[in-house]
Amino acid sequence: MYKVPLFDLNFGEEEAKAAYDTIKSGWISTGAKCLSFEERFANMLGAKHALTLANCTTALHLAMILCGVKAGDEVLCPSLSFVATANVIKYVGAKPVFCDIAGLDNLTIAADEIEKKISPKTKAIIVMHFGGFACEMEKIVAISKKHKIMIVEDACHAPLSVYQGKKLGTIGDIGCFSFFSNKNISTGEGGMLITDNEEIYKRAKLLRSHGMTTMSYQRASGHATEYDVIDLGYNYRLDDIHAAIGLAQLDKLEQDLHKRVALRERYISHLKESDKIIIPFKDYQEFSTNYIFTVVLKDSNKEKRDLMRSKLAESGIQTSVHYPAIHRFSIYEKERTSLPLTEYVSDNLITLPMYGNLKIEAVDFVCETFLKILGEI
Ligand SMILES: *Cc1c(COP(=O)(O)O)cnc(C)c1O
Repeated sequence: MYKVPLFDLNFGEEEAKAAYDTIKSGWISTGAKCLSFEERFANMLGAKHALTLANCTTALHLAMILCGVKAGDEVLCPSLSFVATANVIKYVGAKPVFCDIAGLDNLTIAADEIEKKISPKTKAIIVMHFGGFACEMEKIVAISKKHKIMIVEDACHAPLSVYQGKKLGTIGDIGCFSFFSNKNISTGEGGMLITDNEEIYKRAKLLRSHGMTTMSYQRASGHATEYDVIDLGYNYRLDDIHAAIGLAQLDKLEQDLHKRVALRERYISHLKESDKIIIPFKDYQEFSTNYIFTVVLKDSNKEKRDLMRSKLAESGIQTSVHYPAIHRFSIYEKERTSLPLTEYVSDNLITLPMYGNLKIEAVDFVCETFLKILGEI
């Protein structure tokens, strides 16, 4: 066990009670709890529609279908993301075209890379708001309008992050969120797709449940007795037990995010003087979820970074790497390309502990230990 883990659940009696009450209610599959979760999530973000899904990977997969991406098409995406961001492009037979990041202090997809890599085959762009910090959306939206390309936001890190007065996930055509255990909102597994487009929403809802025109919940409540199947759909539904936990988590979200802001400030106050590291997004001005706190080692290499991580682990501090670059994974051999900034970050980034209930003293301990080890190696 680590003295300071990377992440800890923000769970209490509220989540346990929500799950228990749902089990006792007699309805556990997609129903009233999912509907309330969708309604509250949409309101919170200022989106017209929200749809609960089994996880974010299914949301991103549906997003590809809803954007009309087909075999032979190309979709631009970052390589510095979780592998699902690119896998979903392959699910529909299209080709991921990996773009480099904006810089060592801005780990999101570079707008000028997007512009450079657009081809007549490009159907969509998937952007990922790294750590809850916005991509260069103003430029990216302008490019997408000029070339008539859809934007999907992988907003897994960013529920309630703000960009120019809008919530992340509501700027592109479709926003996708994850409620996996270690995300800002945890339900175990879970996801949400949001959109302002009525047609996209209606089709997403069909595809979520086998393309069936009615759901068991409607039939059980006497609102429907039969169904047709009008589209090739999936079973990508969330259930009411997970949705009830999600509702309990929404009650805590804002407070959790405010604690993270203070923790990030504490990290920066300790680490900003070091000339051996870059703190990505250090001067970022807008509200961010601070899903993770990362640093990039300067003039370093993978061996040195890995040594740092193992020494931190020996001191009881759990770290991670966000992310191993997707384009270097074996299954992406055919799409391999040179992305110098992404590759440097992938080899030299360290993710330090961050979660709402992390103690300020623990941040002090992590920073003191980190700086001491950094001075020695
Ligand atoms: C967690 C995550 C996903 C996948 O979400 P699941 O809910 O686990 O399917 C996709 N993209 C990013 C950036 C993530 O962090």
